[in-house]
Amino acid sequence: MKKGRLFVVSGPSGVGKGTIIEQITARLGDSVMLSVSATTRDPRPGDVDGVNYYFLTEEEFVSRVSAGRFLEHAYVHGHYYGTPLDPVEAAVEAGRDVILEIDVQGAMKVKETYGEGVYIFILPPSIKILRERLSGRGTETAEVVDQRMGKAMGEIGYLDRYDYGVVNDDLDRAVEQVLDIIKAEHCRVMDGEAEQIISEYREEK
Ligand code: ADP
Ligand code: 5GP
Repeated sequence: MKKGRLFVVSGPSGVGKGTIIEQITARLGDSVMLSVSATTRDPRPGDVDGVNYYFLTEEEFVSRVSAGRFLEHAYVHGHYYGTPLDPVEAAVEAGRDVILEIDVQGAMKVKETYGEGVYIFILPPSIKILRERLSGRGTETAEVVDQRMGKAMGEIGYLDRYDYGVVNDDLDRAVEQVLDIIKAEHCRVMDGEAEQIISEYREEK
């Protein structure tokens, strides 16, 4: 069976990653799995443990890091975040695509260690609009908004390490673009795959 592919989605806080991915998973159903990360940050109102994140104490998080249970982990905006390894491997083996919504440091680690993956960066129409969205979400204090905005340009500086940049101005258009990327990537000729495909045609004679 053909393995699933890994889609790594990053972008500054408030750019709309969560909103876009929610629509993607709703549209693609079971063929795709959104990886649920672990974090030491406090749940926001409406956050559900095991759905939005696995909320862990710092002690639990560090012990799972030592046990090798994360594909990657990073310290982002003052908290630990990490991608549990087992569910990602199981889904990919079962032929399901996996979406990771992780920060730029985590994405670079996945690139080094896992390699094969499609790296998508979500860009804001402007820095001004990014701030409006982040404060408009109403989930962070003014201080946290300032802290996250302070990191935004540094994160955008990683754009050249990504395969695709999608500007989230009109939400529907951005969702369509990400869906198009996923579709196109399914037609990519992967390393070593061409030989196998060609020989199947040869054997047909
Ligand atoms: P992220 O996951 O990147 O931190 P969110 O998905 O939480 O960002 O989006 C931040 C805010 O911006 C939310 O209030 C969301 O409803 C809003 N938003 C997302 N995409 C758009 C868009 N294309 N146009 C206007 N508002 C948007
Ligand atoms: P938030 O606290 O807004 O949910 O997420 C803050 C940042 O952490 C975002 O940039 C998000 O992409 C990133 N993040 C979420 N989960 C993970 C993860 O498992 N690993 C890494 N490296 N970053 C993550």
